[in-house]
Amino acid sequence: MMEEAQRLLKQVYGYDAFRKGQSEIIEGLLGSHDTLAILPTGGGKSVCYQLPALMLPGTTIVVSPLISLMKDQVDALTRLGVPAAYLNSSLDASAYREVMRGLTQGAYKLLYVAPERLDGTMFETLASQLQIPLIAIDEAHCVSQWGHDFRPSYRQLAHWIGRLEHRPPVAAFTATATPEVSRDIADMLGLREPNVFVTGFARTNLSLSVVTGVDKRKFLRDFLRQRPDQSGIIYAATRKEVEEVCADLQKLGLAADKYHGGLSDNERASAQENFRFDDIRIMVATNAFGMGIDKPNVRFVVHWQMPSDVESYYQEAGRAGRDGEESDCLLMFEPQDVQVQRFLIERGTQDPQRRSIQSSKLYTMMHFARTDRCLLQYIVSYFGEADVTPCGKCSNCLDQSEKVDMTEEARKALSCVGRLKGRFGVTMAAKVLKGSRDKRLLELGLDRQSTYGLFSNWAEKEISDWLYWLVAEGYMRISDGEYPTVSLAQEALPVLEGSKTVMRKRSTAAKRRATGPSV
Ligand code: ADP
Ligand code: ZN
Repeated sequence: MMEEAQRLLKQVYGYDAFRKGQSEIIEGLLGSHDTLAILPTGGGKSVCYQLPALMLPGTTIVVSPLISLMKDQVDALTRLGVPAAYLNSSLDASAYREVMRGLTQGAYKLLYVAPERLDGTMFETLASQLQIPLIAIDEAHCVSQWGHDFRPSYRQLAHWIGRLEHRPPVAAFTATATPEVSRDIADMLGLREPNVFVTGFARTNLSLSVVTGVDKRKFLRDFLRQRPDQSGIIYAATRKEVEEVCADLQKLGLAADKYHGGLSDNERASAQENFRFDDIRIMVATNAFGMGIDKPNVRFVVHWQMPSDVESYYQEAGRAGRDGEESDCLLMFEPQDVQVQRFLIERGTQDPQRRSIQSSKLYTMMHFARTDRCLLQYIVSYFGEADVTPCGKCSNCLDQSEKVDMTEEARKALSCVGRLKGRFGVTMAAKVLKGSRDKRLLELGLDRQSTYGLFSNWAEKEISDWLYWLVAEGYMRISDGEYPTVSLAQEALPVLEGSKTVMRKRSTAAKRRATGPSV
């Protein structure tokens, strides 16, 4: 079977080899397994369901919400000599009839359908007239309320699929799914013991780096000076900051322009064009910039502040190096920028559940900025992809600084947090360790804790940095919700029991310590 697939890959598409994940997905589908595949955009998902469609008897149904892409896909297949059609609201009555007639004659190997077309009647018609060997569902995260683009019509799908007399294998595809969203997709679509594939998230041509505690303006100037001919994007969190950074760069004589939601349509369109055609070299923008730009030679992406979550970060950073050439992604992290994002979340939504999801995503983003681990590995495993080796070129991989044993400090911090029993946040835990005379702390009697004042000669900020580092490394966790509290994770036990040592890179440890006297 797979030899046949390999042969068709070459014959129909002209590709020499499968990409990572493709052959495994195809093999599973040919073996009639339900499948959930999480592949990044551009990862090559079309081949995963088109090849099985070619090899299996009958007409494969592809559900897709993107009407404009449907036509492109069908045109592309037709050019490749694969008979395919689509049904969506863009067809007029006669075109629609034409497709239906073709279907009854079994003329198509693939039929693309918009989800809102697939009501009960449609399903019955298709099921009675077609042999359906496979149903592929694109943008499957639309079925999940936890995803970012929930569509009620996707909820109906599972119902109709479940009622088919011979339910074919179902393959769900998405480019954005955290583990929770993946589980939700599988539940909502009623996937039966699906093969789950998460692959292709490691963009190995990107060198990620995080800097903290630098003079941002100076750092950025040096960064740009080292790249006099390169094109890149600088993302800032607010319009005001975009204006300031852009003005600063223009003053230096750099070919920079700006893009944010406060500009007129004309201004934005012209900035985008100028950037695309290399009339300007540097685009300073809010996250409003990016949808639909597909400039291959973006050599760097700088985040002037951290974005709200790892998905956004990686999506924005990933606009560098589309052409596969080596590119740099720099995140300038300052703990106070977390507050800006928190403010944006609070302003952005009233819904407590949404707020809580966003706030936990914000924490993950913050942990990314603080981790000692390989940055690429951190991101890729966030998306659920296992087995990725350290990239060897992110700022953490390159940081050869020796590690220092922080086991004692970790044990003190963890026992303090353990004793607070998940009732308080990081700030209060830091105050207890500091031995603060904070009014609320005293009212609560927390000065009677045995861990009170254990870090009395550290700065309070240094203590909370240390606590956040322990969270980032998985020893503690922070709850969701409006008043996030900190508590111990399973990982803390071996440290408290003395069977595990905690090592921290000297560079990060020293940077924190520099802000106050050490223990
Ligand atoms: P997406 O996952 O975003 O739907 P596509 O299926 O459109 O991605 O594929 C992205 C690009 O990768 C396309 O240009 C496609 O032709 C190319 N591609 C997919 N599979 C392979 C392969 N095995 N070898 C070479 N190129 C491939
Ligand atoms: Zn790395």
